[in-house]
Amino acid sequence: MHMHSAMKTGMRVCGEQALSRCHIHRTYISSRYGRANGQRVQSQREEVLLPTMPVRNKDVTDGAWDDADRHAVDEALKDAEKIARLGIKTGVDHTQVLLGQRIEDLEKLCTLTGQPTYRAKQMCDAVYRKGVKRIQDISNIPKAWKESLVEEHGVSVGRSTIHHRVVAADGTQKFLLRLHDGLVVETVGIPADGSHRLTVCVSSQIGCPMRCTFCATGKGGFARNLMPHEIVDQVLTVQEEFGQRVSNVVFMGMGEPLLNIPSVMRAHEIINKELNIGARHVTISTVGVPNAILKLARYATQSTLAISIHAPNQQIRETIVPSAKAYPLQALMKDCSEYFRVTGRRVTFEYTLLAGVNDDVQQAKDLAALLKEHGNMKSHVNVIPWNPVDESEFKRPSRKNVTTFVRVLEQAGIKTSIRVTRGLEAAAACGQLRNKHQTTPVHMDG
Ligand code: SAH
Repeated sequence: MHMHSAMKTGMRVCGEQALSRCHIHRTYISSRYGRANGQRVQSQREEVLLPTMPVRNKDVTDGAWDDADRHAVDEALKDAEKIARLGIKTGVDHTQVLLGQRIEDLEKLCTLTGQPTYRAKQMCDAVYRKGVKRIQDISNIPKAWKESLVEEHGVSVGRSTIHHRVVAADGTQKFLLRLHDGLVVETVGIPADGSHRLTVCVSSQIGCPMRCTFCATGKGGFARNLMPHEIVDQVLTVQEEFGQRVSNVVFMGMGEPLLNIPSVMRAHEIINKELNIGARHVTISTVGVPNAILKLARYATQSTLAISIHAPNQQIRETIVPSAKAYPLQALMKDCSEYFRVTGRRVTFEYTLLAGVNDDVQQAKDLAALLKEHGNMKSHVNVIPWNPVDESEFKRPSRKNVTTFVRVLEQAGIKTSIRVTRGLEAAAACGQLRNKHQTTPVHMDG
């Protein structure tokens, strides 16, 4: 699927309200075994005290990008490398879960535990295609082996549980998934009317250290990177809860995927090979991390790279995207051109329109000029009218400014689309659902 059509059908998930008349018509807390589509709600009340949302490190403050931010970003990058090796930080070795493993990794597990390697295929079928959630429930493999995997080797399937769900009238569903360490992460399933398309907007981190000023996730701190299985799990959960095959995956949930490249790319590989979602149906969205775009290019995937540009020049960009100070716009654009040269894949630019900040005609003209200056990347701009988040000083752009902005870009020969707003209320806006549930410890149904 091309980004253009994807956007038109509304794969955008962050805070979707004013342009749409839709409202949430059903909000409930689902139980661990809750079913989709409002078929069943929880029956038992179980008190669970969850940890608070990641708070910012005390040194990290609003305003200009500084040493504390650089430190937070370095920590995220180091954490990603650790996960790639062992998953030390969370205490779970990601090689101890079946989910996120390639068939060749599972073959090694078979050999190490004295089983024939064809059992790896049986395990893949069980976890990726049959949705088996416990090793004990995998059929066709010896019971004694299953017991030893669980008891002696501490292996598990690696699925999360559904902690909370919001269903919008237009069919979009947001889930808060509870991970093994009690932290929760947001994922969204976005069906498209009249087609078989089902897009999942996945998170790549718990929190985010990038601090984009208009983003709900950016208001909090950063807890940790997600492990590969925790990303794959989001896709499987949406697939199961919708009872429909997922056709597209966008890394546009919480977090900055390019701070977590090893997990993101391993999940990408599994999504591709085991869940059969073609790389061209996967989009990785980034605000830009120095050196990371070229690193991504080396993976040579056919997935789409989307750049959160949000401003036509360095000066404005730095005020809304503080991390731009560490990665100037010109350097970012140069890396995008190089990415296009190496991969041959068109780069998409996302532009969140903020009233009075970056939404006037001159800024549209400057953006067109900037894209042209950096050669023919077959760029496509996706304009996102800002979706309000709590305690934010920004304003949503007027309808007139949105259409004028798009017209100016199109007149300059740049393909542009407006991200369709979906029917979720402010409380379910990107990152906010989670914030709401974790700003204070909450007593929830488990
Ligand atoms: N970290 C990644 C993914 C973020 S979410 C990135 O920066 O690209 C995907 C897109 O939604 C980004 O372009 C992000 O800047 C934008 N976004 C975040 N919050 C938003 C909001 N409240 N309204 C409109 N766009 C928003």
